[in-house]
Amino acid sequence: MTKDKMPFKEISKIHKECPVCEIERDLSYGETRDRLKVRGLEIEVASKIHYCPEGDHYFHSIQDEEDKFQAAYRDYRIRKGLLQPEEIRAIRKQYKLSQKNFALLLGWGEITIHRYETGAIQDEPHNDVLMFIKDFDNFKTYFLTKKHSIDPGVAFKIEDMINKRTFGIVKALFSFRRSDPPPIQNKMNLHYSGHVENSQGCIDDELALAA
Ligand SMILES: [Zn+2]
Repeated sequence: MTKDKMPFKEISKIHKECPVCEIERDLSYGETRDRLKVRGLEIEVASKIHYCPEGDHYFHSIQDEEDKFQAAYRDYRIRKGLLQPEEIRAIRKQYKLSQKNFALLLGWGEITIHRYETGAIQDEPHNDVLMFIKDFDNFKTYFLTKKHSIDPGVAFKIEDMINKRTFGIVKALFSFRRSDPPPIQNKMNLHYSGHVENSQGCIDDELALAA
């Protein structure tokens, strides 16, 4: 594609090999807009690109090509209401599961989880399951029906985590109610401030786990 046929905004000049001419050239590095088809959906994204004035042609570096696709995939996920890779990873991490055990629990291939976490677009039924277990109570229910699919030692640890966390949330809620400082009396406030701090810390921990 030649220069006047596509938008191009130069960011910098660079002297390096042009893979089309196969020799070193004075090149322009800049930004353009690309249209990609992702699962039948046309998506326009900004992408970085090189322009070779000598040959009047454009080329993407391998990294820029990859970034272009990842940008389109992110946009596709937003439009389809799908989780982003880092959200999938966060769901797995909040239950302290390795990719292997997460895959076993879900009945998916380990490579599937790895691919989703590194940018491949997930299937919608898989996304539905992930959205469901994102919620701690739902995960609890799901885990209890599927725990036999993973190593008993690991299952025991997760069950322990679930129990501690359930207990922790109840404890945090209880502390929160008790932590409301009594009005006016300074002595009482001082006495209670330590208590507030402690229970606040407890609540924050639980919320961090629940986030
Ligand atoms: Zn060239």
